[in-house]
Amino acid sequence: MEGTSLFSLPEGMQVSHIQITENSIVVEIVATSPTSRCPLCSEASESIHCHYRRVLRDVPCSGRRVQLFLTVRKFYCRNPLCQRKVFAERIPTFMEPLARMTIRYCQQITSIGLVTCGKGGAKLAARLGMQTTRQTILRRIMDLPELPPGSILYLGIDDFSFRRGYRFGTILVNLESRRVVDLLPDREADSSAAWMRQHPDLMAVSRDRGGEYASVTIWSRLASGLFPTILSSQIGQELNMSYHHCKLIASGVARLHGDLLLVHQSYPGDPLPSWGLPGGQVEPGEELLAGLQRELLEETGLTLVGTPNIVFVLQVLRETEEGIQEWLACHFACEVAGQISPQDPDGLVLSAHWVEEQAALEHLGTDPGYDCEPLRRWLCGEAASGTVYTVKVK
Ligand SMILES: [Zn+2]
Repeated sequence: MEGTSLFSLPEGMQVSHIQITENSIVVEIVATSPTSRCPLCSEASESIHCHYRRVLRDVPCSGRRVQLFLTVRKFYCRNPLCQRKVFAERIPTFMEPLARMTIRYCQQITSIGLVTCGKGGAKLAARLGMQTTRQTILRRIMDLPELPPGSILYLGIDDFSFRRGYRFGTILVNLESRRVVDLLPDREADSSAAWMRQHPDLMAVSRDRGGEYASVTIWSRLASGLFPTILSSQIGQELNMSYHHCKLIASGVARLHGDLLLVHQSYPGDPLPSWGLPGGQVEPGEELLAGLQRELLEETGLTLVGTPNIVFVLQVLRETEEGIQEWLACHFACEVAGQISPQDPDGLVLSAHWVEEQAALEHLGTDPGYDCEPLRRWLCGEAASGTVYTVKVK
């Protein structure tokens, strides 16, 4: 039957019947090779013990789900020295023993998982004619062979539900390789913190959430002064410091026609002036946005237009002799108006400029104290607004 080549079946398998409905195709397949090799002693046998059926999911065909009803056989092993008396025939390039889907189907599910990082993967698969669940996709990614041992530098954290809206766990993703590295059975901060303590190389942790939701959450937490410091790593639990113990910094990310607003500043003791985003420390009692407005005016002479949106938060943890210092650098996308004319009362800002974004990132990258990866990710749309990064500085 010509269906055999249509479905690209391996040698020794033949289509005997095809039944097509609106959404699915059921393909009856028989194994035809006269002999099969014993998996234990490799001797070929032609003595058939029995026939049995296997049902396998296969890759979709013209948008329809495909199910294979496979008639395969068990053979007697006639090698008197072999311990195996009966064995099932194997088609190693096509299906694993006991599997309920073909190898090519598994590979497609894995690819969908890797491209979508698990999010929306089940929906995409359904659109492509593949029935699967988020759990299966995650399991496929988890089953991939381990990467060569290396450290995880950038970790993404999100939660997922084992059953829709019922029980939640935490998914941990290596942001560089885009691979799931672990699943935790709950979404408690302690579990994530314990995991992170075992990964001392972690440089930054990001919590990606949907745009609006994230802004609202972070904004309301910041506004209520209850910013959680759960995303620490090694130093984890010692970090139950309150809002008042950390330095709050407001930074402006102002873009105009592909340029980014930067200030050129000279700190006492620094051999050369450095580049930075406009912004600075919010004073005690001052509101975050008021601090941003004030710093922007002092450093650039420009004023804010409308309400700025939070784009990401950089939580910087610095280990000092006195203990752990924490900075929360809140970055806001803002629109500005006016003429550039810095009037910095501290006299640190030399000038302010609109700099082409790529060049701006390079300028910012020359400051060893500033990690510009989160900014880069946001500018090129790789990270959702509202992402929180934790950076450790020794
Ligand atoms: Zn054998």
